Amino acid sequence: MMQRLNPMSIQPPATIGVVGGGQLGRMMILEARRLGYRTVVFTDEAPGCPAGQVADEEINASFGDSEATDAFLSQIDVCTYEFENIPAAFIANIEAVKPVFPDRRALETSQHREREKLFLREHGIPCAPFAVVDSADSLALAVEEIGTPCVLKTAAFGYDGKGQIKISEPLDAVGVSQVWADLDATRGVLEGWVTYRCEISVVAARGQDGSFAPFPVSENIHTNHILDTTLVPARISDAEAQAAVALAKQVGDALNYVGVYAVELFLTEGGELIVNEMAPRPHNSGHYTIDACDVSQFGMQIRAVVGLPLSPPRLLRPVAMVNLLGDVWPEAEVHPDWSPVLNDQDARLHLYGKRIARAGRKMGHFCVLADDVDTAQSKANAIMAALRG
Ligand code: AMP
Repeated sequence: MMQRLNPMSIQPPATIGVVGGGQLGRMMILEARRLGYRTVVFTDEAPGCPAGQVADEEINASFGDSEATDAFLSQIDVCTYEFENIPAAFIANIEAVKPVFPDRRALETSQHREREKLFLREHGIPCAPFAVVDSADSLALAVEEIGTPCVLKTAAFGYDGKGQIKISEPLDAVGVSQVWADLDATRGVLEGWVTYRCEISVVAARGQDGSFAPFPVSENIHTNHILDTTLVPARISDAEAQAAVALAKQVGDALNYVGVYAVELFLTEGGELIVNEMAPRPHNSGHYTIDACDVSQFGMQIRAVVGLPLSPPRLLRPVAMVNLLGDVWPEAEVHPDWSPVLNDQDARLHLYGKRIARAGRKMGHFCVLADDVDTAQSKANAIMAALRG
């Protein structure tokens, strides 16, 4: 007789609903399909979005469309989301009928920088000094309190450095009014500037039973506030890596989180760890796990969402992951010659199915596997230079 290891788990061919149509949804769905799950995407993007291309069904509607929401609900057994800029009210409507992992609290905490910072402070998790501002006057006070350099960020709907203004020098009244007007938001968070040795992230999965399964720590190199390269293993000490993982666990436990999440951190010259932000979903800095780990972050997301047991994934080989932004495309609809990456069997290309390339748009990524991380990085840099021609 077949023995069920976990009677609470949702087994194939059940249907997983994915809210959001981007590449993270696409990569989650590819994992779900491999296991035999059905998938339905709900997105406010146009038909044929990256996730919709690989899903069994794609619903294209606004988050306020109750008929479309009912159609989504009628098909799914469990729901997850692939980005955090979703109205919490939409997730509340889903949660009232079907299980949603991660839950609404995780979404609400991480989609709003002010709530996120207050959550970190409340739980004693180290973050940069910050002040909440809602006017030019409160910004002036905050700049005085925090000092320069500092960075003003919108409270809501910021990502990849969008909605951020660095303030390098003390400002006069005119300067403060200008920066506040430039932010173009009703609320913001002013953060002290952190001088760091490197940026790292911990991508981890947390199960429905509270089990915690971290991936190896990533070292992240950003260009213009957008992730450029991820290196694993990160070139940090074991003690630093363990401390980063412990902070990530603290974040997940405090939220009673279920699913994959990422905690981004700064590591200072003095070895201090400062949490920058968390993402309630698989993360760009975890894309390396598809090629370099025995289970990917997307596989772990599916395992967590359907209620399967989790254990820490293993790194199979050192790896460098490089993002392919639209800048690499010679024209909006003309791909570069991919031979430099395709010809190398240790280089793995991932394209997201986006038809139009734009500067700064994440179009794909590639990974290079090697015997050590420095070799992986230099091979990746050479491939990138060749792609740019
Ligand atoms: P964020 O959108 O907050 O993830 O910021 C994007 C990138 O901007 C980070 O990964 C850092 O490279 C940089 N950055 C953001 N906040 C700070 C800060 N307080 N100090 C130094 N660099 C920062």
